[in-house]
Amino acid sequence: MEWDMNRLSRYPFLAQAREYVKAQEIPLEEMLSVRNASVQNRALKRVEDAVDGAEIERDFRRTREDNITDLLSYPLSRFLVASTGDRTLAKWFSHHEGERARAFLSSEPLDIVLSMGTELGLPTVQAPAGAQTGPVKAPWEVDPRAFPDRGEMEQKELWLPFTSFLPARRNISGASWNLVNLGVVNGKLRLNRDQYTRLLQEKVRERVEEGLDMKVRPPKLEHLDAMISRLKAKVDGRKKDYSPTEMGKLTITRLPPCMRQVLGMSQSGENLPHHARFALVTFLHTVGMSSEEIFKVFMNAPDFKGDIVRYQIEHITGASSATSYMVPNCDTMKTGGICYNPDGLCEKEWMTNPMIYYRVKGRKLGAKREDTAS
Ligand code: SF4
Repeated sequence: MEWDMNRLSRYPFLAQAREYVKAQEIPLEEMLSVRNASVQNRALKRVEDAVDGAEIERDFRRTREDNITDLLSYPLSRFLVASTGDRTLAKWFSHHEGERARAFLSSEPLDIVLSMGTELGLPTVQAPAGAQTGPVKAPWEVDPRAFPDRGEMEQKELWLPFTSFLPARRNISGASWNLVNLGVVNGKLRLNRDQYTRLLQEKVRERVEEGLDMKVRPPKLEHLDAMISRLKAKVDGRKKDYSPTEMGKLTITRLPPCMRQVLGMSQSGENLPHHARFALVTFLHTVGMSSEEIFKVFMNAPDFKGDIVRYQIEHITGASSATSYMVPNCDTMKTGGICYNPDGLCEKEWMTNPMIYYRVKGRKLGAKREDTAS
């Protein structure tokens, strides 16, 4: 499928967009010259929006020039992110680009959505034989100006093999994504368009993140140094505002490997799957951390939304509901794929819950301290 400039600028991570940029043969020095100030400004804003978690702007009235500026700003914004050498920024940036692609996809005809899915490794397949078929109703967002006559075709059900679905939904939270709530027939899953584009968002995020950890040596240019410093200061600002200055009653050395891993992922800006978030909140609450301290643990998440995080914490800890949830047992953690890096202590037959690990480790460390003191 041939993509026009409008679409290339919306989805600059696709092969055709990258080929277009490559064909322009613009050296980095030229891209950083005063002639390309608009591209530089756009690239900087792109990264800053990711740090701020800004609303996605969808302007349907852009000129061809605007689109080219936007497209060229993508590789430059990647260069800026890589130049900071900050992995958390790379995660914020890739998440934001994924959200942006999804926002545009919501207004695209279905064949465009499916074409992108094929390129990103998420091709749909035929419905399984004997499956009940029919339109899948979904309240997906539609821009009426762009597609006034979105018809039945757009409500078509989509089928994905289980094997490509599972890795794509790894970081998506919400009960509606549990397999019991999705139609599964003969190893295939039935999705609506909205669910499919949510999976594509994850695929975009993965593609954007590829290569952002590469070491780059930025040329010595005063205004480039200024842009990189500005970004670093902005990133540090968000981290400083939000990172926990202390972990309250939590003793890091007593943490079970699963919670150490999940906590590390959260603080380094990775999106946690829903059940990992749930387990971490229950655990931190049980060891005595306050809701405010727990809140700060999640503030580096790329999809951080303060109101929602507060609501979830208060719901799980029982502050706003009748139930205070317990830390999930090790069996549940294993089933959910979040029993990370179990160690020797985890192998004991009585190790049935991460809280047991925390308490036993506390006693062991206490005994060790007494031995050392005596
Ligand atoms: S066995 Fe239990 S405590 Fe150990 S890593 Fe797995 S879930 Fe955590």
